[in-house]
Amino acid sequence: MNLILMGAPGAGKGTQSAKISEKWNIPAVSTGDMLRAAVKEGTEMGVKAKSYMDAGQLVPDEVVIGIIKDYLSSDKCKDGFILDGFPRSIPQAEALDAMGVKIDAALSIEVADEKIVERMSGRRVCSCGASYHVVYKAPKTADVCDVCGAALYVRADDAAETVLNRLNTYHATTEPLKDYYAAKGILICVEGREEVSDTTAAVMAALSKFEA
Ligand code: ADP
Ligand code: ZN
Repeated sequence: MNLILMGAPGAGKGTQSAKISEKWNIPAVSTGDMLRAAVKEGTEMGVKAKSYMDAGQLVPDEVVIGIIKDYLSSDKCKDGFILDGFPRSIPQAEALDAMGVKIDAALSIEVADEKIVERMSGRRVCSCGASYHVVYKAPKTADVCDVCGAALYVRADDAAETVLNRLNTYHATTEPLKDYYAAKGILICVEGREEVSDTTAAVMAALSKFEA
């Protein structure tokens, strides 16, 4: 199964992507994670990407298209893959088509804007990759990671004003992809629920038709 995961920032793409990856035994890649890693390492690409990310804007298409092209041509994607956060614009979707990869489904996790703002303002992350919410998924000790014990922090682009920018970018540039994939007959919309496990159940039900 070759799957695209869509949804507003904070809709829970990363969480569901990990669950699908585990259940279907196919790799998941997040362009957001890859870009954050590049920023951390201070590579040329990271330096270029950082200002866009901190402002809540999309990194230029050619940058992410390059990353995805490398990734999809690697051997581990031969039995399927999940793209979390790519494509995020019509030119990116067209570039993906031009690579000749067949996409089976574009799954959109739908969450209302008010909910998104509430979720992201409470999000806390750890450098080990773990992610929490002060209300919905609080760590055992406030501001300390359950997994590794390190101090939690607010992702730079989760600042209130940046969240609104990211939502605007989503509606203006990414949401039109729903029509793009609906026209190809492969769009699936799932309602993002308060409980992660409810969302997962809906996602798995929607994908069950691809099971061999
Ligand atoms: P979220 O979905 O919560 O916004 P991500 O981790 O997916 O978080 O993305 C974080 C940031 O990385 C985005 O705001 C954007 O600046 C950049 N980014 C990620 N994927 C793409 C993409 N496909 N095209 C352009 N920019 C991207
Ligand atoms: Zn941790």
